[in-house]
Parts: sequence; structure tokens; C-alpha cells
Amino acid sequence: MTTAPIAPPRDGASTAHADAIVVGSLNMDLVVRTPRHPQPGETLLGRGFDATPGGKGANQAVALARLGANTAMVGRVGDDAYGRALVANLDREGIHHRGVLARPDTETGVAMIQVDDASQNSIVVIPGSNGELSPSDIASADATLGRARLLVCQLEVPLTTVREALARARRHGVTTLLNAAPAMTLPQDVLALVDWLVVNESEAAALSGHPVGHPDDAAQAIRRLRQSGCRQILVTLGAQGVVAADDSGLHHYPAPKVAAVDTTAAGDTFVGGFAAALLRGASVEAAVREGQAAAAIAVTRPGAQASIPHRDELADH
Ligand code: ATP
Repeated sequence: MTTAPIAPPRDGASTAHADAIVVGSLNMDLVVRTPRHPQPGETLLGRGFDATPGGKGANQAVALARLGANTAMVGRVGDDAYGRALVANLDREGIHHRGVLARPDTETGVAMIQVDDASQNSIVVIPGSNGELSPSDIASADATLGRARLLVCQLEVPLTTVREALARARRHGVTTLLNAAPAMTLPQDVLALVDWLVVNESEAAALSGHPVGHPDDAAQAIRRLRQSGCRQILVTLGAQGVVAADDSGLHHYPAPKVAAVDTTAAGDTFVGGFAAALLRGASVEAAVREGQAAAAIAVTRPGAQASIPHRDELADH
């Protein structure tokens, strides 16, 4: 199978129309800073608390928007204070959010994140309403999906819903990108609907069955994954950069050298930068470099969405 290039911008596209649609999760990240992680049964005094918007879907939508793509999001929140705050955040970022449904019967997803003085995280995610995003919600967003040029999904919403979004996009001729995070195995029929697969080391290992820790391993994993029908694969390797494969071959792009302070949302920023550049008609190499440049800035700043740069900041690096 060869994949078609991303569709050109549509004539007469208005600001009410989105080039990129993200189908995915929205969470409120509840971040507690603590000197160390408590033992079972122990109570500790923490050092501080923040509630900040997160979820891989929302993070990638924010990255796409800040890095220049007209973006819409499809997801679910609860009809509660966190849900309203997450939708208001999309609004501030200029992301179309008519497809983000607030349902009274479930609560907004939350991630309880403890960070100790050594910057070690422990995280408990309660998917809440993200787990209720259904194939019929995707059917309701079909007109918006059909007018888009790129669909971006992750795996923090039900797989049946991701499959429905990918299948509808394929029928509409919309290019699909799956960031297969968090790590899990995937059925062949889902992978066959993916034009661009973006995975980190553990995700590449889970999908391919081949351990990945180095660019050479990534190349092995990619060879196995390409047999599934997905031809264009990017494996992100943190500070070791990205190994990319398409029909022109395999390429390793080392990451820019920076002093990283917090790598949270590095992967989400890379996806947003890569996808926004593809939508502008960039070559794969230029799109990978743009994703890497954006992620290299993000890792020098604390936080998740707070660390994602705007496009005009890339020129200074
Ligand atoms: P996360 O789950 O923290 O969002 P991830 O595991 O999905 O990240 P990584 O492979 O760690 O993704 O990072 C994605 C990209 O971000 C890398 O390919 C690289 O371009 C950039 N990056 C990550 N860490 C660094 C670093 N220390 N220095 C420079 N670039 C980095």
C-alpha cells in the first residue's frame, strides 16, 4: 500500500474550518509537589499544588494550534467545573471545540500527578468521560472530519472510537496520524488505517515486539511495523532524536542539544510541530526538524501545555 500525500488546502477555507482534527483525551492534571513519595498509609505535607489542562489529545491540539494549524478537537468532558475549564482553555488557544461534548453522566478525566524533589513522577489517571467517547460521537462530527486534511489520534479514548475515526477519515481521503500512546498492542486492521504512525521507544516495542532503546533497534522495529500496512513511521527516542521511515527509506534525525529541565509533553509537542508543518506542505525532513525544534524548546521549560512554544519562537532557535 502506498499512502496518498496530504491533501492541499481547500479553496475558500474559512476560519470556521479546521485543517487538523484531534480526536482524543482531555484531562485536568492535578499536580502535587512533594519532598518524596508517601509510603502506603503515610500522610505527608506537600510543597505545592497546580491544576492545569492536560490529556494527550488536548496537548496535541494545543501544540498544533500554537505551531500554526487551524485545529478542531473532538472529545468528551463532564458537565463540571474541570470540564468547563478545559473547554475554556481550548477556546483561549483558538481551537474549535464544538465537537467537545459535556455530558452530565460522567466526570471529566483527571490525572493525579505526584512529583518529588528528584523530579520523579507517579501518576494515576482516571479517564472519566474520555472513556465514554463513542463511535457515534465520531459519526456526529463526520462533516467536520470530512472537511479536514489531517486526523490526529492517540489511545487515551476507547479503541473502537479511534478505529471509527480512522476509518471515516480514510473514506473521506483525510490523512491519518496515530500517536499510539500509551503503549499497547494494536490489531492489524487499526494499523492498516494509519498513514503516519508516531511512537516512542516503549510504544514501538509494544507494537513490534522488538525492544527499542537505540536508533538501530528503532530501525528493526520499524521494519516489523511496516509489514502491518502502515508505511510511514516515526520513532521518537528522547534526546537521541527520531528515526523516520517512508517509502524513500530510513533516516535518523538527531535531536538538537539542549539543557532539558522537564520532558513532559515532549512527544505531544513533537506530534503537533510535525503535523502542523506537514499541513503547510513541508517535506518529511523539514516537518521532523520542525517537530524536533518545538520539542527541544518544550523540554527546556517546566509543565505540559505551558511548555509548548508558539511558531514565532522557533525562528529564534
Ligand atoms: P513524553 O511522554 O515525555 O511527552 P515521549 O516519550 O512521547 O515524551 P520522547 O521520545 O521522549 O517522547 O520525545 C519526543 C521528541 O522530543 C524527541 O524525538 C526529541 O525530538 C524531543 N526531545 C525529547 N527529549 C529531549 C531532550 N532531552 N533534548 C532534546 N530534544 C528532546
